[in-house]
Amino acid sequence: MPSERQILVGGVPIGGGAPVAVQTMTKTETANLAATMDQIRRVAEAGADIVRVAVPREKDVEALRTIVRQSPIPVIADIHFNYTLALKAIDAGAHCVRLNPGNIGGPDKVAQVAARAKAAGTPMRIGVNSGSLPKHLHELERENAVEALVTAAVEFVELMERLDFTNFKVSIKSTSVPNTIASNRLLASRIPYPLHLGITEAGTKWSGSLKSSVGLGTLLADGIGDTIRISLSTFHAEEEVKVAWEILKALHLRERGPVLIACPTCGRLQFDMDTVVAEIERRLEAYEDPIEVAVLGCAVNGIGEASNADFGITGAKDEGLIFSRGKPLKKVPTPELVDALFEEIDKYAVSKRIDVDAGAAAEAGALLDRLEDKEAMTPERMAALEREHADGLDEDVSPVASRRFTRA
Ligand code: SF4
Repeated sequence: MPSERQILVGGVPIGGGAPVAVQTMTKTETANLAATMDQIRRVAEAGADIVRVAVPREKDVEALRTIVRQSPIPVIADIHFNYTLALKAIDAGAHCVRLNPGNIGGPDKVAQVAARAKAAGTPMRIGVNSGSLPKHLHELERENAVEALVTAAVEFVELMERLDFTNFKVSIKSTSVPNTIASNRLLASRIPYPLHLGITEAGTKWSGSLKSSVGLGTLLADGIGDTIRISLSTFHAEEEVKVAWEILKALHLRERGPVLIACPTCGRLQFDMDTVVAEIERRLEAYEDPIEVAVLGCAVNGIGEASNADFGITGAKDEGLIFSRGKPLKKVPTPELVDALFEEIDKYAVSKRIDVDAGAAAEAGALLDRLEDKEAMTPERMAALEREHADGLDEDVSPVASRRFTRA
């Protein structure tokens, strides 16, 4: 269930049933204006709704003033330890300020920031990190880390409410995937505020993406989480944005550009599918339509396996097929498959229609029949054989009846 409350970061709604917002953080020194703006433009192009910049020094606040003006997406100032930087970031026009009330110098400093944020209409992200829980929760942390994280977060929420400030979202950050899942579930049941999800210090592009997909994906599938950030050890922040989008697309929470599906390949493969899939994935980045594109290594399962795909290819040694929504469109020499696929996608991008040339489709259909004939056992053929041999068999007493392949 989405959070009850909603806040606005710049113009981006967070929580209250709004689409899950994608955010990332720049990796540049914020004061390096050219580099920071360059990265912000790249993450915005990759689909970030919001970007966060670190503000650890005075010169970063100075740069923030310009960044906020020039950025195509709302900017969050990330502050630790120094509450005066938080005050200055609000004055510089930051669209949101992130701070952990536990490390900003005590409740009176939090109160000053909250008062300034309230006067400016600036929302905040408040939160806790597993590595920096308040001292009085250390014993609880040893006994029950999840309860300790949630208790700390709820205490900060109550502090903000006492300060009459409710324009905030909350995050609990942990390096542990199970603790992230459990603590956010618990927190979502205890507070009405929007939740920011992330696995802190998740790791490299490979392992960090997986950990984030498991942790955030589990929560998002439960309807928990209003904005997400994928933390990856890479200087290319746009990679974090791409992973975030793949998670949201996989869960059908948001649409952005094409979805690629591809078979895992096996011993039937007769062309260089690894390279072909990588090229297709790269070229699809330039497209905005949320079409589904399939790449099948062979026709053994029939192109009906990818019948939802708007466009697809299936390869063979010399010739392959372009297909659309389960029907062959045309046959193409294997080395030309990718270009031919993109010709069809380009035509669709303009006309929003799938044109079928009856002659080419018939030729492609004949090739598909030949390709399927070469394969020893398609599922369809297995089903037909089983039906044939089932004649006269008492299905109720057959020991394999329940395992019989029943697809028509
Ligand atoms: S589509 Fe063909 S190559 Fe790909 S996994 Fe299935 S049988 Fe193997």
